[in-house]
Amino acid sequence: SLLLAPSPAAQAQKPKAPASAADIEQSITALLGQMTLEEKIGQLTQYSGREVTGPASNRKTDLLNSIRTGQVGSMLNVKGVADTRAIQAEALKSRLKIPLLFGLDVIHGYQTVFPIPLAEAASWDLAAIRESAHVAAREAAAAGQHWTFAPMVDVGRDPRWGRVMEGAGEDTYLGSEIAKARVLGFQGEKLGGTDAIMACAKHFAAYGAATAGRDYNTVDMSEQQLWETYLPPFKAAVDAGAATFMNSFNTLNGVPATGNKYLQRDILKGQWNYQGFVVSDWGSIGEMVPWGYARDKADAAQKALAAGSDMDMESDAYRNTLAKSVQDGKADVALVDDAVRRILRKKFELGLFDDPYKFSDLKREKKVLNDPKHRVAARDIARKSVVLLKNDNNTLPLAAPPKIAVIGPLAKAKRDLAGSWIVLADTNQITSVYDGLVQRAGKKSQVLYAKGCDVMGDSRAGFAQAVATAQAADVVVLAVGETWDMSGEAKSRTDIGLPGVQEELFRALKVTGKPVVVILLAGRPLIFNAIADQADAILYGWWPGSEGGHALADVLFGDYNPGGKLPSTFPRAVGQIPLSYQQYNTGRPVVDPKNIRYRSAYIDAPNTPRYAFGHGLSYTTFKYDNLRLSQPTMTAGQTVQVQLTVTNSGKVAGEEVVQLYLRDLVASVSRPLRELKDFRKINLKPGETQTVTFTIDQNKLAFYNSRLEWAAEPGEFQLMLGAASDDIRLESKLTLLP
Ligand code: BGC
Repeated sequence: SLLLAPSPAAQAQKPKAPASAADIEQSITALLGQMTLEEKIGQLTQYSGREVTGPASNRKTDLLNSIRTGQVGSMLNVKGVADTRAIQAEALKSRLKIPLLFGLDVIHGYQTVFPIPLAEAASWDLAAIRESAHVAAREAAAAGQHWTFAPMVDVGRDPRWGRVMEGAGEDTYLGSEIAKARVLGFQGEKLGGTDAIMACAKHFAAYGAATAGRDYNTVDMSEQQLWETYLPPFKAAVDAGAATFMNSFNTLNGVPATGNKYLQRDILKGQWNYQGFVVSDWGSIGEMVPWGYARDKADAAQKALAAGSDMDMESDAYRNTLAKSVQDGKADVALVDDAVRRILRKKFELGLFDDPYKFSDLKREKKVLNDPKHRVAARDIARKSVVLLKNDNNTLPLAAPPKIAVIGPLAKAKRDLAGSWIVLADTNQITSVYDGLVQRAGKKSQVLYAKGCDVMGDSRAGFAQAVATAQAADVVVLAVGETWDMSGEAKSRTDIGLPGVQEELFRALKVTGKPVVVILLAGRPLIFNAIADQADAILYGWWPGSEGGHALADVLFGDYNPGGKLPSTFPRAVGQIPLSYQQYNTGRPVVDPKNIRYRSAYIDAPNTPRYAFGHGLSYTTFKYDNLRLSQPTMTAGQTVQVQLTVTNSGKVAGEEVVQLYLRDLVASVSRPLRELKDFRKINLKPGETQTVTFTIDQNKLAFYNSRLEWAAEPGEFQLMLGAASDDIRLESKLTLLP
């Protein structure tokens, strides 16, 4: 603990009835009236806990004293009840006793590590995703946090960019649905619940489109692309009530997002009427200086404030310069007041003025962090996140073979299964693939092990033993991929192949003639062509979290039938990137893959993705039949019901994600061949048939035209229903009448 903590309340109090919105606005006005300019700017200032605990030379300022004098509004990276309570107690010594907000990157769980967000997206299971965020919030809240810097709702179509692991993949529709689920999971229906924390939709905006997949880079894109592809998940987060937004490090068409008035004031706070507040990204106000957009920190602070950035995370720019800028007439105090108002509003809504400790106490912290129900939820969504990419000759599920060889540098890994952005300190609690298999196999199968090689490096010294181990077994389970620090923030890669000699190890094992099941564990879509071509079965496990080993054993043995579907296109070659399923026909479409002369194609590789968006196999099969539209035409304002039946035509129960895609055949703007417009996840017993109904309204037919109007144009639309973007089973046409 940083300081001597005041003894935590022995018993958590009951939350008070929440104040009405009008009461809150009145309280804010009264408080603002008492605040000095320095105290106001203090509310706009956020520092990291590292500044309290790190070496004195690293400290930006005498932080504890600043807190006691009301010069700090929020802290990030202070973890645990003992420390958050101790620091809050300092804030309560200040003149106006305004409580601090504690924020942290709770990205995929707090103590219980859930699969990385990209993995969860592969579940297409909105209820499970919401539950995952809820459990994370429950643990974080019990540990003294008020706020998570999640969800990241950036659309990501470039797997070189390491931060794809934090998002929901490449698709705008799926990403928007997941954005809502996560916001509601973290916050509940209304702020202030004891098991909830504030969400933060980030990074506003277009951070996912960093040029060439290099983190923190420029972004150049058309307004149509911005509005159609990148902004909707943010709008979905606003609609779901996201309490806060974070801006981003990139420029957008030349202007840093942090200093971008168009994004933050015109769109977010203007057109979308957003009442929450915007926190800068770490140091992003100060970074406008090296961008060459601001002369110095004072200039940067003026520009950030004018553009609508309310809270300064770690730049120390507002605190050190804004007061003078206001006095010199270079910053508008009305904008300072508006930013303070937005931040105080959240403190009131959270109930911090009633209980600045938010009912956190050591006892509750311990109890909630160790709640076994949380591991159950983590295992549930980890299994749902696994994607069965390939399963030749029904290699899987394993039918209790006498001897299983578990091989690979990630077979016994624990820390790596958690991925980046974790809070959990003791990573021994994570179940490895090896542990999961041994526990599941029990006495029925003997589990042999060899490491084979490291993830990185070129040593083949372990190959011989790995091959001998494979030879002694009936089946090989090979766990390969990325270590936890190879994807995430500042982890862009030019080569997204399987690192090191892992694919060579695979080839050596394949030579034994034993069936090889490959488990890929990674924070992004990887390229693994040899494995894709030659493996007997492939499971994409991503970074699956605390229960990863158990979840994968459940799938390997068929205790759970995998139903995950890729939320991102998997390329065959880096040169295809950026790649998404939303391709255009072009004027020169490839009609015959064997004849690509003067076609829109690469001449040195197949012109298809390795695995398409939405792809994912099952241990059973599904039949799609009886597509019916309630009417073949519609007028503006009408809706059309699209109905089909899906039958489990195999021998085991299973989950299927029924996907609805649409194409506008002729429009004032050339449209993609396919756009996901809806989906339904269903669970069917063998032989069971279910009717699935989708509703098409005008909104589903609309797009941004070249005047940036969101409108549906009369004409013909192609409707496609299928199990993946490249596995369309049923098609029909729909006409929108003028
Ligand atoms: C990241 C944010 C994160 C913040 C605080 C930044 O570097 O871009 O996503 O919330 O750090 O840790």
